[in-house]
Amino acid sequence: VSAKTGISWTDATWNPVVGCEKVSQGCKFCYAKTLHDMRHKAVLAGKGLPAQYAEPFERVQLMPDRLGMPLSWRNPRRVFVNSVSDLFHKDVPFSFVDRVVATMAQASRHTFQILTKRPERMQEYSAGLAALSRQARGVRIARSMYADSPVLRHIKDDTPGGCDWPLSNVWLGVSVENQTAADERIPLLLQTPAAVRFLSCEPLLGAVNLNGFVSLNRKCLNGAGLTPSLDWVIVGGESGQRKQDVRPMHPDWARSLRDQCAATRVPFHFKQWGDYTTTFDRDVDDPDWRRCDRASALTPGGNWLNLAGGQGFHGERVVRVDRVGTKRAGRVLDGRTWNEFPALPSLDAQGGKP
Ligand code: SF4
Repeated sequence: VSAKTGISWTDATWNPVVGCEKVSQGCKFCYAKTLHDMRHKAVLAGKGLPAQYAEPFERVQLMPDRLGMPLSWRNPRRVFVNSVSDLFHKDVPFSFVDRVVATMAQASRHTFQILTKRPERMQEYSAGLAALSRQARGVRIARSMYADSPVLRHIKDDTPGGCDWPLSNVWLGVSVENQTAADERIPLLLQTPAAVRFLSCEPLLGAVNLNGFVSLNRKCLNGAGLTPSLDWVIVGGESGQRKQDVRPMHPDWARSLRDQCAATRVPFHFKQWGDYTTTFDRDVDDPDWRRCDRASALTPGGNWLNLAGGQGFHGERVVRVDRVGTKRAGRVLDGRTWNEFPALPSLDAQGGKP
């Protein structure tokens, strides 16, 4: 359902869809799947839990009874849409996405943050809406609200009005765990009209170069042609259960993204280190390589990690990382927290209002 959340870049979660399927490396230890699987097992063992856990995680479930929830929240807040699913999963029909859009259009006091690993389907949905006149779009969205009631639907069809697209209170983002995901997903995001376009680089599994996706003059030349720049970048390391072999984030991958954002004045948000913390930086703590054995002995169970992502003492920018848990690892990067957010939504010329 909706919940206050510990996620530093949002205020609440709203889950009108439950369930998903893994699509890439970043999904390996999906927390939504881990939690759902545990509860699904408990239901099979006879425990009484909400009905959604009777189904396996991979069966995508639409939850129409949750569609109106944000309308009841009086104070404006940032709302992460579908923290335990992906709104653009193929099993979520566009007619249901229309209903989610209807809520977001009505609850304009909130800012909705939609994050996907399926930007091709997000783009397809958006293009379909953008092709309609404001009036026709309004009728389609209004009809969706009354999809369960044919009588009311006809009444609503007669209602004058329209619907903007993109909505100024909806931010669209893609998850990016490495350069491959960046090159595949960011161009699609940048071609999709939105008030704010953002990245969630979590879990960050490798270095990511944003060249062609961020720029000082807000326009970028990349594989998709001339596009707007990204508006916001979130970075985080992986966390998971003890038995899961979660992957550490090299500190320089995070620093590099921070520095690329600073150079192009893109707000940067460092969410967490994840389960690992850096306990030894060879270039700083042992530049002449004399104390590596001692460092090893001091941190039993830790991993060596080099900049290329390899596990081993040899390579560039070798650090030792230890698994201490997300809470202890914290979210301080080079002596400070990075809590930046985009400024007020600005609809640019390319992706702006119809
Ligand atoms: S896309 Fe997101 S919700 Fe779906 S499996 Fe991957 S991490 Fe989990």
